[in-house]
Amino acid sequence: MPSSQLRIAMLSAHSCPVGKLGTKDTGGMSVYIRELARELGKQGHLVDVYTRVHDPKDRQIYELNQNARLIHLRAGEDEEIQKLAVYFHLPEFVSNLENFKKQNDLQYDLIFSHYWLSALAGVYLQQWWHVPHIIMFHTLGAVKNAIEERDCLVPGESEPELRIETERDLVQKCHHIVAPTEREKTELIRHYGASSEKISVVPCGVNLEQFKALDKTQARQYLGFACPPHMKYGGSQRNNDKIILFVGRIDPLKGLDKLIKALPYLRHIQGLRLVVIGGGEHSQHEIERLRKLACDFKIQEAVTFLGLAKHEQLPYFYSAADVCVVPSYYESFGLVALESLACGTPVVATDVGNLKSIIRQGKTGYVLKDNAPHRLADKIALLLSRPSTDTKSARLIRATVSKFSWSNIAEAIIRDCQLVLANYLTPVS
Ligand code: UDP
Repeated sequence: MPSSQLRIAMLSAHSCPVGKLGTKDTGGMSVYIRELARELGKQGHLVDVYTRVHDPKDRQIYELNQNARLIHLRAGEDEEIQKLAVYFHLPEFVSNLENFKKQNDLQYDLIFSHYWLSALAGVYLQQWWHVPHIIMFHTLGAVKNAIEERDCLVPGESEPELRIETERDLVQKCHHIVAPTEREKTELIRHYGASSEKISVVPCGVNLEQFKALDKTQARQYLGFACPPHMKYGGSQRNNDKIILFVGRIDPLKGLDKLIKALPYLRHIQGLRLVVIGGGEHSQHEIERLRKLACDFKIQEAVTFLGLAKHEQLPYFYSAADVCVVPSYYESFGLVALESLACGTPVVATDVGNLKSIIRQGKTGYVLKDNAPHRLADKIALLLSRPSTDTKSARLIRATVSKFSWSNIAEAIIRDCQLVLANYLTPVS
């Protein structure tokens, strides 16, 4: 084993890194864990990602690449369960993990856990294994609640006090926290009293080999995009359609209702369509609410809910679109914007997550102070009035996000791990 090689136990108890993206509980965090584990493996580190069995068909071990594995452990029934219910199965998850480690004679240098539920499991393991524990929260309960309260979103679905108190406790007990943005670092300090020295800021990444600009016409043909015959806004020349793309979990926090409400301001644009990617069975209720909203505004024919798309298919959607919109109330980071820009498609987004540092105002899109429909419409119209993105401009847009390659991100994470390990191993005098 090379001396610089790290053996990392990554915990993702509730969400499977190879699960169906775009469903209620599987999104950016799963992409992050899967891509980071693969890249760390590529760089010669050994990574085991532990998650619970979500389906009886799950194999216990999946090779993510030659050095990175995904390991399924039983924790409750072998099925999808409510995120919060995973809390009650964490003792089983931890003890199965410990048994797996013993049976396979495994040793780890550190634990890297994702989301508060996994971090809680990680706190037990850090004590048993005597190794440092790094947490990435991905979202913070206190911040979600503050936003839901401020914007009156879905009353009754707020994050439980259990989560808030656990997160507050975890920031004290762990050895280090990775925040994807300066904003999250500030929130960790403000809401939970985390110590600033304990937090490093490392952004999320994008797979630049996968997310590439493709020819718009070919991408549209590949996807079979055509106007519905009686479309109110459109003509029948599919290549002249103006396509607005939304990609993400269908969750009120994503602000998709605001984007739908923006469409009536854009009535004058010929061939305008909003294509929505994401969903799954647990999102039907929210999709129905949004469909009804589109009907109320008499724009239902301009809105298409396409359901889930495979991550590998998304470069076609981003390339086919004229603009991608991220109208969220809250993002921990905002991977969709990064993916869209990597495909050369401009983005209109609210000022959430890391979007201000990803999007170049007026050049690769617009970041707005909020998701007010008229403001979204204004900037979407501005982008749509420009000549369609050609290869050269797509290349220029893509170049602005090249520093977010997973290899750069993995190197930054390893530097953090090595520092944390060095501090952990140095006895306090
Ligand atoms: N995604 C996908 N298929 C879908 C919907 C979403 O692959 O049908 C992916 C999307 O490409 C992105 C992730 O899910 O990589 C969502 O990440 P983001 O950070 O934008 O949002 P989060 O889920 O973390 O709120």
